[in-house]
Amino acid sequence: PADEPSEPLRRVDGDNYSPNNPNSDRINATILSLVRNSELPQLLMSMRDLERTFNSKFNYPWTFFNDEPFTEEFKRRTSAETAAQVRYEQIPKEHWEVPSWINMDLFEESANILKEQDVQYAHMLSYHQMCRWNSGLFYKHPALADYRYYWRVEPNVHFFCDIDYDVFRFMEDHNKTYGFTINLYDSPESLPTLWPETIKFLASDANNKLMHPENAMLWLQDKERRPKHNEKANGYSTCHFWSNFEIGDMEFWRSEAYEKYFEHLDRAGGFFYERWGDAPVHSIALGLFEDRNRIHWFRDIGYQHIPFFNCPNSPKCKGCVTGRFTDGEAWLNKEDCRPNWFKYVGMN
Ligand code: GDP
Ligand code: MN
Repeated sequence: PADEPSEPLRRVDGDNYSPNNPNSDRINATILSLVRNSELPQLLMSMRDLERTFNSKFNYPWTFFNDEPFTEEFKRRTSAETAAQVRYEQIPKEHWEVPSWINMDLFEESANILKEQDVQYAHMLSYHQMCRWNSGLFYKHPALADYRYYWRVEPNVHFFCDIDYDVFRFMEDHNKTYGFTINLYDSPESLPTLWPETIKFLASDANNKLMHPENAMLWLQDKERRPKHNEKANGYSTCHFWSNFEIGDMEFWRSEAYEKYFEHLDRAGGFFYERWGDAPVHSIALGLFEDRNRIHWFRDIGYQHIPFFNCPNSPKCKGCVTGRFTDGEAWLNKEDCRPNWFKYVGMN
């Protein structure tokens, strides 16, 4: 099918979507970004793109998170990029700090081993903390308590296509839980025990019942397309929704199933002794506990996070090349695993 928008134009006339209209058609949603003060210039680029293509029409509030206080310059310059409401939130210590049951000597030893296997960010403790927070803690921040949907945005990403409909309303109207643009294989060395821990979790009857009858287990376990990945990851294909872009319904992360699953993984220690990313953790959970038909590929949202693109063939898009998946080295093309998703789940 052609790269048509997922929905026709919605009403953006008058003051309906103006930033301070309490009766607007806006859904209960926020754009959110975890970001460091030092990434301000890169974040401004992301904001400009998203405001130009989407948010200047809908004025969804932005919520910024940081483990440190935001600087005045950060607040001043980001709030100047949007007419929408902005909030600056610090992450509570107990959500960010390394949990008490993690042994830091073992962390160092494990990081040495990961590094020998070329796992990126092995020794960078804050990266492990970030992955853990994005996996199981962001939606517990008090500033998000009254929100249901979110759109995650990182510094230095690009949006290329005009989006003329309210994507949050699309999520609600179509009963979608999660939206993605890019699927990638992960480095199996970063998560050798993630799938085995998942199987352990599912072994009890109580947990097994949490699986959705319309799950995407076959997608998670695919071994046809890249058998070595599956083997090294002990049964998981490593194909995941690339989570630097996420449009999601936090009710899923707040569900009993996900809460119990995250708790199990957190206790198992792999956020520190391995380098489990929030992308594979979110993807496995969605593949097990959610109806696969409630996961949506936003083909019409032109997107780039270095080095990969999602670039639809549409006159609404400017600045990306249709059909090109990467502007990096040629081998990166085989990191695209969207065909796996379509193989098991189809285009709808
Ligand atoms: P990559 O995309 O996997 O290379 O990881 P990034 O460096 O882009 O980090 C992912 C996201 O987390 C980005 O939005 C970063 O700004 C944010 N992030 C990573 N580490 C930290 C941290 O220590 N503090 C804060 N405040 N944000 C972080
Ligand atoms: Mn990034």
